[in-house]
Amino acid sequence: MAADSASDDSKFLRQDDDFRNSGVGQADWSAKKMVWIPSEKEGFEAASIKEEKGDDVLVELANGRKATVNKDDIQKMNPPKFSKVEDMAALTCLNEASVLHNLKERYFSSLIYTYSGLFCVVVNPYKMLPIYSEKIIQIYKGKKRHEVPPHIYSITDNAYRNMMQEREDQSILCTGESGAGKTENTKKVIQYLAVVASSHKGSKKDTGAVSGELEKQLLQANPILEAFGNAKTIKNDNSSRFGKFIKLNFDVTGFLVGANIDTYLLEKSRCIRQAKIERAFHIFYYMVAGAKDQLKEELLLEDFGAYRFLVAGHVEVPGQEDDQMFIETLEAMEIMGFSEDERTGMMKVVSTVLQLGNIKFNKERNNEQATMPDNTAAQKVCHLQGINVTDFTRSVLTPRIKVGREVVQKAQTKEQADFAIEALAKAMYERLFRWILARVNKTLDKAKRKGASFLGILDIAGFEIFEDNSFEQLCINYTNERLQQLFNHTMFILEQEEYKREGIDWAFIDFGLDLQPCIELIERPNNPPGILALLDEECWFPKATDLSFVEKLMNTHTSHCKFSKPKSLKDKTAFSVLHYAGKVDYNGANWLTKNMDPLNDNVTALLNNSSNPFIQDLWKDVDRVVGLETITKMSESSAPSATKSKKGMFRTVGQLYKESLGKLMTTLNNTQPNFIRCIIPNHEKRAGKLDANLVLEQLRCNGVLEGIRICRQGFPNRIVFQEFRQRYEILAANCIPKGFMDGKQACQLMMKHLDLDPNLFRIGQSKMFFRTGVLAQLEEERDIKL
Ligand code: ADP
Ligand code: MG
Repeated sequence: MAADSASDDSKFLRQDDDFRNSGVGQADWSAKKMVWIPSEKEGFEAASIKEEKGDDVLVELANGRKATVNKDDIQKMNPPKFSKVEDMAALTCLNEASVLHNLKERYFSSLIYTYSGLFCVVVNPYKMLPIYSEKIIQIYKGKKRHEVPPHIYSITDNAYRNMMQEREDQSILCTGESGAGKTENTKKVIQYLAVVASSHKGSKKDTGAVSGELEKQLLQANPILEAFGNAKTIKNDNSSRFGKFIKLNFDVTGFLVGANIDTYLLEKSRCIRQAKIERAFHIFYYMVAGAKDQLKEELLLEDFGAYRFLVAGHVEVPGQEDDQMFIETLEAMEIMGFSEDERTGMMKVVSTVLQLGNIKFNKERNNEQATMPDNTAAQKVCHLQGINVTDFTRSVLTPRIKVGREVVQKAQTKEQADFAIEALAKAMYERLFRWILARVNKTLDKAKRKGASFLGILDIAGFEIFEDNSFEQLCINYTNERLQQLFNHTMFILEQEEYKREGIDWAFIDFGLDLQPCIELIERPNNPPGILALLDEECWFPKATDLSFVEKLMNTHTSHCKFSKPKSLKDKTAFSVLHYAGKVDYNGANWLTKNMDPLNDNVTALLNNSSNPFIQDLWKDVDRVVGLETITKMSESSAPSATKSKKGMFRTVGQLYKESLGKLMTTLNNTQPNFIRCIIPNHEKRAGKLDANLVLEQLRCNGVLEGIRICRQGFPNRIVFQEFRQRYEILAANCIPKGFMDGKQACQLMMKHLDLDPNLFRIGQSKMFFRTGVLAQLEEERDIKL
């Protein structure tokens, strides 16, 4: 990069005033009484007020068209001096239209990061911008938030400095819908810290290049996790199918000394089934396309078309060579210190998962009993897993099951056998994923030095409201309720502090409490039990079904303010939850199975006894004794794959998730959080296109608009005395005597002269506080005077 290109690139970070004021001029704005009116396509359209009659307002649009709108549908437009503001909390007219307009204006100027009070909003540019270079990193190093243009680097740097100065752990929370840019931004945080906090004093450090083994390994962890946990979906060619929390540990001097990664909710069903034009996890394609000769033989690999689990064969990802990616993934594993045996072991599991899909069962004897007419695929599975094929086949077709006090052998139907194989494939892959994570953590934690403090980065799916919402959506929406509660609570604490510091009387409400009823509806253990607890109860109840679960929900929560029955009663297993982001209709079908996650324990006992140490290790926590842990209620030959608690009780998926989320929240609650809201601008993965309604919907779901609503209840606009006096003294001419006067005193005099409703402002110790819209009014008056 040329020496001065960083300054060229800076126009992607901040633009000067001439550049900014391309929209409505100041004169136009006040003369024409500009406002925003609703528009179906654009979200909002600019218009100027012509006439007001009662509730009706006659407006004129830019194209000359006139329209009558209800005055409640009109939103005020900000004075032009607020054009493309870097922090939307400073907007004097704080409304949806202005927030959308500001984000849009900035987006079309390639300014993708914008603050909104405590939030940092980032709109996916869908193109490479020159804002992540080594030079740019240097610009952000050690700078305060207000000294530099909005950027994920600024958030990161400030979090890092806070951690150092206040010895307080930090967190950066990225949420947003799939494809919004969470993972890309997470990577930028790590990239930045790998440079800035590197303990390796290599000559390259100051140029922003990454040196040092730990830093390199940290950066290599991602490609490995992505190979096994990401997939191409309709929304995102590289969609993470799991959530993650990466904890970076630093010593007292601020050097990176280790890292640790936790993951959440891997979408394991993707191993066996994919929607149209979507893919299974990347690694399947990397391996089948990339493994050559000897390895191919060792893994018993076949062509894409031969695998039933790869529903559409070799679906390709634009701009990505799967065989090349295989080489890169293996290289990343090498850098991470994975041994040859470990790498082969992993690949054998991936190959087995594919091969399991090729095992076919037939129906025999009045459909009562499944048979396996051809055991070629089973043989391959067993060869790869180091188990005996006769034992395996028997375990699947006629497993030993505990019925009451006796252990009997029971023939399985074709459906049961198919179910068992699919469950096995999913469990096997999930265990492999967990093993990889543990292995990566072992490398990243090798310093074994306990860090003095940490900075954690959360990359997890935002609110999901689909057409069909199931157990998985409940889990993710429950997560987002808790994260939003953390946000609201943090905002409350910070606002409270600011008001206290400035000596302002105002009882701020803890809006975190708003979310409590919905959270309780989901997680409450008893009196009355919430959704997860009721689901668990049903799982242990012998004759329970998904329907009886939903009926129980209805009976227990009919009068709960966050619970309702959907209007159309077509589907008996439907129920609705009123989340903060909106009402979500859930379909309770298969929740019992999803929560129990049953697995054939006859087979797992075999794997636990495998001749391959890698496989044995993967299954080391399951019982070797066949049939003893079986629960007769479930698909007869199955026990939950979830790990057992100390008491030997099975833990449901819901319970385990609630627990891991609880742990995450405890960790986050003890950090100073930073909230990144990632926005997807369109669903076509296209640069330079912003679908207004899509963006508004996300702003609603991700709490940005909610945050603004909360702000509006307080005094969101703040100006230090000096600045206020300079800009608005003209409105209070001659009320301030000549000579020196203290800033606060001058402002007090000015306010007296302006004669504003006392409820519209407060005078603090160092600044003025205003309710939303007040400054716009002062601006207007100032215009008239000028
Ligand atoms: P998410 O994790 O939210 O599902 P990703 O972070 O994977 O989304 O982003 C999806 C895609 O969007 C990326 O593969 C990349 O092509 C593009 N993208 C996201 N953020 C950026 C960015 N800051 N700059 C350039 N491209 C981006
Ligand atoms: Mg992602």
